[in-house]
Amino acid sequence: MNESPVDLRSDTVTRPTKAMLAAMAAADVGDDVYGDDPTVNRLQARMAEMAGMEAALFMPSGTQSNLVALMTHCARGDEYLVGQTAHTYKYEGGGAAVLGSIQPQPIENAPDGSIPLDKLRAAVKPHDSHFARTRLIALENTMHGQVIPQRYVEEASAFARGAGLAMHLDGARVFNAVVASGSSLAAICSPFDTVSVCLSKGLGTPVGSVLCGPRDFIEQGHRWRKMLGGGLRQAGILAAAGLHALDHHVERLADDHANAARLAEGLRGIDGLAVRGPFTNMVFVDLPAARVDGFARSLRDAGIVASVGPTTRFVTHLDVDRAGIERLIDVVQGHFMRTAA
Ligand SMILES: *Cc1c(COP(=O)(O)O)cnc(C)c1O
Repeated sequence: MNESPVDLRSDTVTRPTKAMLAAMAAADVGDDVYGDDPTVNRLQARMAEMAGMEAALFMPSGTQSNLVALMTHCARGDEYLVGQTAHTYKYEGGGAAVLGSIQPQPIENAPDGSIPLDKLRAAVKPHDSHFARTRLIALENTMHGQVIPQRYVEEASAFARGAGLAMHLDGARVFNAVVASGSSLAAICSPFDTVSVCLSKGLGTPVGSVLCGPRDFIEQGHRWRKMLGGGLRQAGILAAAGLHALDHHVERLADDHANAARLAEGLRGIDGLAVRGPFTNMVFVDLPAARVDGFARSLRDAGIVASVGPTTRFVTHLDVDRAGIERLIDVVQGHFMRTAA
């Protein structure tokens, strides 16, 4: 096989472009633990402004960014309401409970990724010594690639205000929602107190997330970040990648969405395969468990890298072009033609 592999496991597998590496190499740096790194400071100021928030904090990862947010919103014995399949609950090692002494209250998500308001309402605990103190609602956008309807977010936010709860957005892929909806980041973030944005997903940096929120919140979060081991020194090298991505890799997310749409179109109608999506840069395919191994083998033999299971998620990104998508479609069509009957 002489074609290079096409890796659709996640939009985290991107390599920095030559231009991004050049921006990183040219970064003006200082010791960020002293607050001395001009490039980190520039990235933080820019992200805060874009999100319509007072302040921002550069973070090594989205997981740490969410954890710092949860630990700043909630104290020991407090509770946050979160989707059953949300990243902060399901995919972050239980950090809020383990390291934050925060009780998660997971709630079944609706198919569109929202958490129904009646379920949120029912989950808020009374002020009574039997219960954890409910403090926060955490949403995710995009949620498994889906853009959360903004009208729902506004309603959830109004409910939260009325109940005295804060609102956090896990916006690991919020720029996909920005591009897909044509809204601004500030508009999408406005119902929230805080938002965590990943630079290392579709934006294509090697490392980094940014937590945005009110100034006093970010000051408190700064202490948690240090305690969690997230105080970095000449981090401007990484922040420069983030600034480069904000300049060059936001609008191009539309290409990833178009590639996901082409992929969904090419796979739909194949007998034996159920296609869900496109959802921004993701397409999901379901197939019977007995057919998983054969499907995985066909993809592997053709140089397609994917996490194959009864549900397989294909994620488009900077390092997958249209030719790679067409190759994947051909491989899947060929596989099902060979294995039909
Ligand atoms: C990737 C991701 C995170 C965490 O980011 P890491 O940088 O991998 O720690 C958080 N939330 C969502 C929705 C994600 O997809």
